[in-house]
Amino acid sequence: MDFKLNDEQRLIRKAARDFATKELAPNAREWEESHTFSREVFDKMGRLDFTGLYIPEEHGGTEVGRLTAALIFEELAKGCFATAVYMSVHNMVVNLIYQYGNEDQRRRFVKPLAMGEKLGAYSLTEADAGSDAANLTCMAVKVDGGYIVNGTKLYVTSGGVADLYVVMVRTDEAQKQKGISAIVVEKGTPGFSFGPYEPKMGLNASPTTELHFQDCFIPDSDRIGEEGRGFNMALSALNGGRVGIGACAVGLAQQAFDYALNYAQKRVQFGRPIVSFQGLQFLIADLAAEIEASRLMIYRAASLMDLGEQCALEAAMGKRFATDMAMRVTTEAVQILGGYGYMRSYPVEMYMRSAKIAQIFEGTNQVQRIVIARELTKTKGGKRPDLY
Ligand SMILES: Cc1cc2nc3c(=O)[nH]c(=O)nc-3n(C[C@H](O)[C@H](O)[C@H](O)COP(=O)(O)OP(=O)(O)OC[C@H]3O[C@@H](n4cnc5c(N)ncnc54)[C@H](O)[C@@H]3O)c2cc1C
Repeated sequence: MDFKLNDEQRLIRKAARDFATKELAPNAREWEESHTFSREVFDKMGRLDFTGLYIPEEHGGTEVGRLTAALIFEELAKGCFATAVYMSVHNMVVNLIYQYGNEDQRRRFVKPLAMGEKLGAYSLTEADAGSDAANLTCMAVKVDGGYIVNGTKLYVTSGGVADLYVVMVRTDEAQKQKGISAIVVEKGTPGFSFGPYEPKMGLNASPTTELHFQDCFIPDSDRIGEEGRGFNMALSALNGGRVGIGACAVGLAQQAFDYALNYAQKRVQFGRPIVSFQGLQFLIADLAAEIEASRLMIYRAASLMDLGEQCALEAAMGKRFATDMAMRVTTEAVQILGGYGYMRSYPVEMYMRSAKIAQIFEGTNQVQRIVIARELTKTKGGKRPDLY
């Protein structure tokens, strides 16, 4: 077992770190307050090859793999959590189309997404289909040459600003999971529109909107894979997505921790820097260990994906652990700064608000526990390989 990154991974991580330091961190607060999504920043990340991380070169990507992608998301999240999150979602979307799409769809959709010319979004959730995602009702009725889609999707990351949307729709009302199909919808398609930008507790540099479909025609050629296979695709994509979100959570927590530690070394009370009090030293020691444990869990889940191994268990455990950790670390960072931590003139309250969403999306942490327990109690499907 080798815990060392190779030269390429170190170089790519440095590029992401430099970008986050120069382009993201100085703007993150302003974007959050003004609810600004910066297309220019996305374009720059395209030029840095961060937009097709799992996609082979002939289809416009760099195929650096999951572990390297985790390093990138971790670094981006240190600069701006919202940006890291939508990049993780974008890469998940490109890969879903690449994995399940045909050659024509790879040419039309994957290449421009992977090259950073287009931004991708993923739409599964509806008002009555959150954790119970298979309950979705957005209908795609079969007509000659395609489908007529009607319905509303909820809470779409990059809604309104993305160019391509992978949308899970119901093509068969008689079936639950097997009645769901995946379609790609391009911004500007007649009958396809967006709800208003949802103001949120945090993550406001990443727009979240509804998608509205009103008699929207989608050709057969824009359905991904076979009819009725969409739910499997949605869940399989989320496995990787959870590793990405876990990596974002590690970066966010590290940023909050570094800020709080630096503060504690400078802040003097009772005539001494507050970091010299054992009450804070023990806290700092625990937080550092929890960040490191989360990082290793995420890197391991990512490495399993790179090896082509099963990883539903590791991805769910990593997402659950890393995002709960990020909530704790960011909350404690506010505590370490005391009253200053509660003020908007310091960044830690924003980190704390950012962390909350990571426990909720891409499967709430309760849902992760369901996945973990299900994987651990599986009786069919064979034994998991012994990887240690
Ligand atoms: C900022 C933001 C961005 C998002 N981006 C996207 C996106 O890009 N694409 C997309 O499709 N969706 C997106 N979502 C939706 C997100 O994935 C859902 O909100 C999430 O899956 C939870 O669904 P819900 O909100 O309906 O909560 P519910 O499913 O109603 O859950 C409510 C509570 O009940 C708990 N619960 C539910 N079922 C169980 C159970 N069986 N056992 C124990 N506890 C349970 C949950 O854990 C939660 O605590 C986004 C949401 C937000 C807030």
